[in-house]
Amino acid sequence: MAYEHGHFISGKRVSGGSGRFGDIYNPTTGEVQGKVAFATKAEVGKAIDAAEKAFPAWAATNPQRRARVLFKFKDLVEKDIDNLARMLSSEHGKILPDARGDVQRGLEVIEFACGIPHLQKGEYTESAGAGIDVYSMRQPIGVGAGITPFNFPAMIPMWMFGVAIACGNTFIIKPSEKDPSTPMRLAELMMAAGAPEGVLNVVNGDKEAVDALIEDPRVKALSFVGSSDIANYIYAEGCKRGKRVQAFGGAKNHMIVLPDADMENVVNQLVGSAFGSAGERCMATPVVVPVGDDTAATLIDMLRPRVESLRIGPSFSEDSDLGPLVTGAHRARVKKYIDMAIGEGQELIVDGRDFRLQGYENGFFLGGTLLDGAKPGHTSYHEEIFGPVLQIARAKNFDEAVALPSNHQYGNGVAIFTRNGAAAREFAQRVNVGMVGVNVPIPVPIAYHTFGGWKRSSFGDTNQHGPEGVRFWTKIKTVTQRWPEDVQGSEFVIPTMG
Ligand code: NAD
Repeated sequence: MAYEHGHFISGKRVSGGSGRFGDIYNPTTGEVQGKVAFATKAEVGKAIDAAEKAFPAWAATNPQRRARVLFKFKDLVEKDIDNLARMLSSEHGKILPDARGDVQRGLEVIEFACGIPHLQKGEYTESAGAGIDVYSMRQPIGVGAGITPFNFPAMIPMWMFGVAIACGNTFIIKPSEKDPSTPMRLAELMMAAGAPEGVLNVVNGDKEAVDALIEDPRVKALSFVGSSDIANYIYAEGCKRGKRVQAFGGAKNHMIVLPDADMENVVNQLVGSAFGSAGERCMATPVVVPVGDDTAATLIDMLRPRVESLRIGPSFSEDSDLGPLVTGAHRARVKKYIDMAIGEGQELIVDGRDFRLQGYENGFFLGGTLLDGAKPGHTSYHEEIFGPVLQIARAKNFDEAVALPSNHQYGNGVAIFTRNGAAAREFAQRVNVGMVGVNVPIPVPIAYHTFGGWKRSSFGDTNQHGPEGVRFWTKIKTVTQRWPEDVQGSEFVIPTMG
């Protein structure tokens, strides 16, 4: 049944008034299943009005009460998880168990944010000088905004608004236009959990809505996750206007396989991390680096049948390995990269380009593809493909294996598989990448640590969630106080505590 999303402002759903809409596809069938309104600057302004109005009272609400709203929100999301997963997978295309994982990884940050009374505590120094005490406090910034990608429509919004709202900010999400139903439902649940209206708003839209958030001086902080060129644009434009900005971009994560690795385990982990969610994860493994030709030969022998036998199914399936890609346009783009890789001289070991799922011939499916011989200088290696495509980039030795991910333009995640602790330790220390897995293929840090890549995978200085998230969503104020009993004389020399 066709549906239409407007926006979520001041605690309720409102229709879009621009007359501009985007299509929401069902990637399994290839059909348009709904429409999403694209907000005008004025409509974004209304969401900012609502968030600005809600800010003083929410910022003044004690942290324990803010945490209670988050506890309740977590409870409501858990009760609604099957519904959320169904709407998410029907728009994104990821299989149902993976969609539940998307919600669950978001909830883990909500659990972290429930600890805000402790996390937001300041510091105190008694008698820093004669009769002088110094204390610091972390205050909310004001109205924050989050611009999110299609590939984690539950997790990434929750990573952003969970911490921001816990800290006493009010918030506006501009979700991906490809799968907006989940963030709209999360905003409803936040209201049902007791957040005052205006604390969490959703504006749907495209560049016009994003530019309105960048340009409005009442928006004090911007968090972005998406592709690198847009991350760079948002970082530059936001900073130019004096906002606090963090912007996370694309990725090309490598998995290094040393000759001593347990190959059975390598292959099991690799097929999941390369092809799960049809490769549409910023922490997927699109490149594997076997060290030495013997390792490469064994890897290919073991990998080929696994890639050929991937279970590809509709997004509502419980027991497939992967579903369709998000849109037909994205599938065409991924296919172009496979053609390009072949043109660049890479050997096509498994070809998924002609895959069709019986009964869903119009769905945006693509089979798993395996290519050997990717190297620096190949555009298909340099750029992010974001599909079910695994490229083998061979390394002769350990130093070459460290150099490949270190010299790549992206630096989100990397993994090494080995039984050698010293080699793993040296790799983790030397590699020029932000998140490292040792025998862990997708090293997404847990909620109370922090997430963020390096190089063109991240623009800005602060990571998401964990203590870094609290720092991003608060500003520090430091008070130096003295309560003299007698009138003091003037001091013309800079005071020291010595
Ligand atoms: P995208 O960059 O196309 O879109 C992201 C957001 O930006 C969406 O809300 C979109 O509406 C908006 N947008 C699109 N064009 C815009 C423009 N010209 N100006 C302003 N805003 C614009 O990304 P996507 O395709 O939705 O998501 C996939 C990308 O996200 C991949 O590159 C992936 O690696 C990346 N990603 C990165 C991380 C990370 O943490 N580093 C996490 C998830 C996804």
